[in-house]
Amino acid sequence: EALANQIAAGEVVERPASVVKELVENSIDAGSTKIIVSIEEAGLKKIEVTDNGSGLEKEDVALALRRHATSKIKTASDLFRIRTLGFRGEALPSIASVSLLTLETSNAKENSGTKLFAKGGVIESIEPLAQRVGTKIVVADLFYNTPARLKYIKSLQAELSHITDILNRLSLAHPEISFTLINEGREYLKTAGNGDLRQVIASIYGIATAKKMRQIQGEDLDFELTGYVSLPELSRANRNYITLLINGRFIKNFLLNRAILEGYGNRLMVGRFPIAVLSIQIDPHLADVNVHPTKQEVRLSKERELMRLITGAIDTALSQGVL
Ligand code: ADP
Ligand code: MG
Repeated sequence: EALANQIAAGEVVERPASVVKELVENSIDAGSTKIIVSIEEAGLKKIEVTDNGSGLEKEDVALALRRHATSKIKTASDLFRIRTLGFRGEALPSIASVSLLTLETSNAKENSGTKLFAKGGVIESIEPLAQRVGTKIVVADLFYNTPARLKYIKSLQAELSHITDILNRLSLAHPEISFTLINEGREYLKTAGNGDLRQVIASIYGIATAKKMRQIQGEDLDFELTGYVSLPELSRANRNYITLLINGRFIKNFLLNRAILEGYGNRLMVGRFPIAVLSIQIDPHLADVNVHPTKQEVRLSKERELMRLITGAIDTALSQGVL
């Protein structure tokens, strides 16, 4: 089983940012309203995620490190039908198999918590913990036992930017949750968690930028679209500032990106991209994920219809004189 976990880790845990993504998604799934991520050496030395979510019950703690023990759903096509982000029950076992993992958790229903320590996926200790509701997971010395994986990490700066990227997107997807990112003891990002998407945009891209974002809105029989797009003058040299969310889940989709650019028409120069956050609500039957566990590429039915909706909503918002 230890080896199977390490093999799965190759899929799920490509880099420190993958760990951050999986841990924070678990915190979101647990109903947290406040999530704090603290990292050292771009996550290779330490990734600590603290949340105020439901916590794990005692009897579930050891199970959480076992593959598929907790899988919430059975097939990938169920993915968009469920509310939670995790679905394979292999993130924690995979992460644990390539790190030193400490899990402190307590569930409001119980009067004490649990502290677990595992090395390379092997549980070394489980002991009771004084009550505090929520979960703290510390992942130390990531890839300490997989030197090949460690060697593949070339620049700490690049890893750090992957981590900030993930947290930015999760913050944009969840304005109702307060996210904090601390790097080497210094606060990098903090969102208010008051549900206001424009404020999240301000926390990430700056207040001046947030003021130059236009609200968009669109609706038809199959899709509901909301979000913000930047005025053309804020254009960027790459598409990293475009965030697409489908039913609250961050996705990548080439055609939808193109629909955004078409909404700008000739307001943008060739090779320039806007800052945009598009949140699309759809009937789960119209979306499917492909099989890769990082599950970002999404195939959509009625893609053309959605493209028209996006292009039209952006064109309308940019044509209006007022914000
Ligand atoms: P899943 O695919 O179910 O998310 P994971 O391996 O990511 O699988 O997590 C295993 C299980 O551990 C989850 O299903 C959940 O029950 C529990 N868990 C993990 N992190 C947390 C957390 N921060 N708060 C509460 N429960 C958690
Ligand atoms: Mg998960």
